[in-house]
Amino acid sequence: RDNPVPLPKRVILAAPRGYCAGVDRAVIAVEKALERFGAPVYVRKQIVHNIHVVSTLERKGAIFVDEVDEVPVGSHIVFSAHGVSPAVVQGAADRNLDAIDATCPLVTKVHREAVRFSRDDFEILLIGHRGHEEVEGTMGHAPERTILVNSPADVPNIVVNNPDHVVWLSQTTLSVDETMETVRLLRERFPNLQDPPSDDICYATTNRQVAIKKVSEQAELVIVVGSANSSNTVRLVDVALENGARAAYRVDYASEIQQEWLDGVSTVGVSSGASVPEVLVQEVLNDLADAGYADVQQVVTAEEDLMFSLPKELRKDANGNP
Ligand code: SF4
Repeated sequence: RDNPVPLPKRVILAAPRGYCAGVDRAVIAVEKALERFGAPVYVRKQIVHNIHVVSTLERKGAIFVDEVDEVPVGSHIVFSAHGVSPAVVQGAADRNLDAIDATCPLVTKVHREAVRFSRDDFEILLIGHRGHEEVEGTMGHAPERTILVNSPADVPNIVVNNPDHVVWLSQTTLSVDETMETVRLLRERFPNLQDPPSDDICYATTNRQVAIKKVSEQAELVIVVGSANSSNTVRLVDVALENGARAAYRVDYASEIQQEWLDGVSTVGVSSGASVPEVLVQEVLNDLADAGYADVQQVVTAEEDLMFSLPKELRKDANGNP
């Protein structure tokens, strides 16, 4: 008897993937601060949720702290891309810290929405993950008027003062489909629920989910590069599993790929979260090529060209002029 013909092995690479404009800006902000002020530069929380980025910046002289009271008085501190509450800004000012705010402008946009709706006496139903830094920062802009909706299961238990004066906002890095389902449930309870003025889930999150859906239709196995605390990365794994992939795994590094994941797999899908440098994806592709998956086809579902200017504190010259 003839041996069965081996299945062709290939990789389908999702695009867009990897760095978004907010991450790019935040990482450059720390690098520029180190260049301009010299090490150490303190950073509150991980500048972006990626282990490789954080350790690379640490080697260059960044010191990551959890809270501003760990930072020596008078030092430079960078606030991470996930944003901070006004209380954190005040805490830094109280310690006479020189703050550089690397909050992504698309997170700042949600902060502004929270402030405005709170001023207009709305109660804000914030869809997001309890304990995530972005959620803490956004809630801190309207602490008296925000109720966290951590999952669709929370919806029946929400208590508001005026059910006709509620608005929903969200974290920027959620699953689009699950969020829409949560909003549908919220609207069943609060028919006059107001929508945010524009999407809070950002373009990068949305685009990466659209791309991985397309990839997952064709790939038996999907590998997503990114860190465990990266919300948008973890959502990509969920979206892959919900859209046709038989298996989907998250890895920080190519070395974490296990041989048995590839057993009987013809097509491997690959993507990466918004905080992941492309070099880490290339290492995954190299290892897959060594395992016989050298044929790489890219599926492009959107073009991205958004860029944000640096935080204003870094746009000034050395004399302080803008
Ligand atoms: Fe900004 Fe979206 Fe990137 Fe977060 S994922 S930093 S909100 S562009």
